[in-house]
Amino acid sequence: MIGFSDKRRRMVREQIEAREVRDLFVLKAMEKVPRHLFVPEAMLDRAYEDSPLPIGHKQTISQPYTVAFMTEALELTGKEKVLEIGAGSGYQAAILAELAGEIYTIERIPELAEQAEKILKQLGYKNIRIKVGDGSLGWAEQSPFQAIIVTAGAPAIPKPLLEQLDDPGLLVIPVGDRSSQNMIRVRKKNQKVTEESLGPFRFVELIGEHGHQKND
Ligand code: SAM
Repeated sequence: MIGFSDKRRRMVREQIEAREVRDLFVLKAMEKVPRHLFVPEAMLDRAYEDSPLPIGHKQTISQPYTVAFMTEALELTGKEKVLEIGAGSGYQAAILAELAGEIYTIERIPELAEQAEKILKQLGYKNIRIKVGDGSLGWAEQSPFQAIIVTAGAPAIPKPLLEQLDDPGLLVIPVGDRSSQNMIRVRKKNQKVTEESLGPFRFVELIGEHGHQKND
């Protein structure tokens, strides 16, 4: 039987490097963080599959490739203060914590935030803070952030996130309708804001004041 670390190595090689994620630090983090600890027990043997997986409450842990792709797009150098919207299982936060200085992550579903916090603590991460709330409003008291990552699909770029992005800073966010989105990277530099499209993706919805409405 092959062990979890072998499965992880294979995941990095076949799903991530093969799709041209090249940042060695990102690849190393993906090889290190035990993804299987972030999925429900019933999903344990599927933890390293090339797909998102359900984590309860109609939410998902993103596909490994998507996590690697978005992380690489943030161009982290080790010192950044990063804001994540949509903590979910906590897996993406752990990857970010390997690559940046401080991670602030927001989750709207209290049970998911609680479970994420538990596992991140067990793994010994001391540079991650998680709170329950509407992440489309950002985390003003902790701003500015040199990097912001939104791991749920938004109808448009939430204004508070743009305001809380440092100069220079990078924001990566899937934007589109409820069924498909385009990954957008926003770069703030010398008081100028530019947008770049990084390709199509599919995410669960960002629900909140600057996201989708809950019931329409
Ligand atoms: N990054 C997560 C991980 O590593 O497991 C996966 C995130 S999942 C695709 C999207 C998450 O965004 C869900 O857990 C959902 O509850 C959360 N979410 C949706 N709207 C939100 C909002 N306005 N604020 C905070 N979290 C939100």
